[in-house]
Amino acid sequence: MIDEARRLAPRFAARAAAHDRDGTFPADDFADLRDAGFFGLMAPKRLGGAGAGFADYAAIAYELARGNGATALIFNMHASVTGALSGVTDELAEALGLPAEALRARDDYLRAAAAGAWYAVAMSERGVGSRLSQMSTRYRPVDGGYRIEGAKTFCSGAGNADAYLVAARSAEEPEKVSQFLVPAGEGLRVEPTWDALGMRATASHDLHVDVTVPAGALLGGVEGLALVVAQLAPHWMVASYAAVYVGVARASVDAAIEHVNERKLAHLPAIRARIGRADAAVAAAHLAVMEAARRVDEAPGDAATNRWVWRAKLLAGTTAAEVAASMLEAAGTSAMRRGHPLERLYRDARAGSLQPATSDVCADWLGVDALGGDPDAEGFAPRW
Ligand SMILES: Cc1cc2nc3c(=O)[nH]c(=O)nc-3n(C[C@H](O)[C@H](O)[C@H](O)COP(=O)(O)OP(=O)(O)OC[C@H]3O[C@@H](n4cnc5c(N)ncnc54)[C@H](O)[C@@H]3O)c2cc1C
Repeated sequence: MIDEARRLAPRFAARAAAHDRDGTFPADDFADLRDAGFFGLMAPKRLGGAGAGFADYAAIAYELARGNGATALIFNMHASVTGALSGVTDELAEALGLPAEALRARDDYLRAAAAGAWYAVAMSERGVGSRLSQMSTRYRPVDGGYRIEGAKTFCSGAGNADAYLVAARSAEEPEKVSQFLVPAGEGLRVEPTWDALGMRATASHDLHVDVTVPAGALLGGVEGLALVVAQLAPHWMVASYAAVYVGVARASVDAAIEHVNERKLAHLPAIRARIGRADAAVAAAHLAVMEAARRVDEAPGDAATNRWVWRAKLLAGTTAAEVAASMLEAAGTSAMRRGHPLERLYRDARAGSLQPATSDVCADWLGVDALGGDPDAEGFAPRW
């Protein structure tokens, strides 16, 4: 599927400027992803999927992002949902005491993904970001299921997904935060609010939720699992975007090389040095991302693995922003015109450090850890 991702990337790149200009969801890219079987990437083979691991995902996300970072970022949300669901092995389910119906629901969602359904993430809220512990969207049990009410923001691909992972707090027991897979349709309303500096084609609009879902929509089948999952599998929450932003950084270097060659500027020492530094920085960030991903597959949840996960997100976010800025400067003012790939990549790359865990939060986590503290508990604000 890496070859497939490489085949699709130039198609995405050719469409990227128009989607960025108009802030439109890249429906044509998603049709390509569906046709090539990418929605089943993280689903196990026994359910019709490709059975990919986290390192496979990271390698593919990097390639897709070289075509269009926004497409890769929306796809990341789907990969996070399906990857986290696939990560709930029967052994883990037993350890967490999950009911058999929850495992059947897990299989149904993954089978549907392998057949072409895709899922978005509606976790973030205005004023709260993605901090699960602060969610204001509420749910309460009703006959045969749950009623969920609230408002979400920054929902990539809103209005285009087949279902949405919605995080909500129990109205009856507020310490419990749970996640639901809510099918698209009645009870969900998209408010088109996304007109952002970068990653414009993610169409990350607001989503208003006022819906009743069946009991099987509660992921895990047990209330209050959201924070447990965030700490058990931080790679999907923290570092899955990392590969996307390293792909955006690499695309910036490629675009700068093309630009300076076309304009016959490649003999200038300052430009060569900028491209040389950028190449090395992107290669280093890529190695860190792949090292984190390898460890996630081999030793998930280990202290050393988690350290690499936070390092990877920090390095990817800062490298993307710095490299894209330097490549724009190397290319000159003509690359700043609207519609030039470097102008878009500069703005898209800027979002990397802002996406949670933000670069500042990653640095804080790593600093607390390096100084011998407990980085999950001792931050200056709740991590989740
Ligand atoms: C392109 C893009 C696509 C997105 N797509 C989705 C999506 O599909 N679904 C979804 O649910 N969300 C999505 N998000 C939202 C994202 O997950 C975050 O919720 C959002 O970016 C956080 O918003 P914020 O920066 O306004 O708030 P905050 O997280 O509150 O951050 C504000 C500031 O506070 C700092 N800060 C926050 N927490 C801490 C801490 N513990 N320690 C130290 N400093 C801290 C941050 O570094 C930052 O400087 C997307 C965001 C972007 C940029």
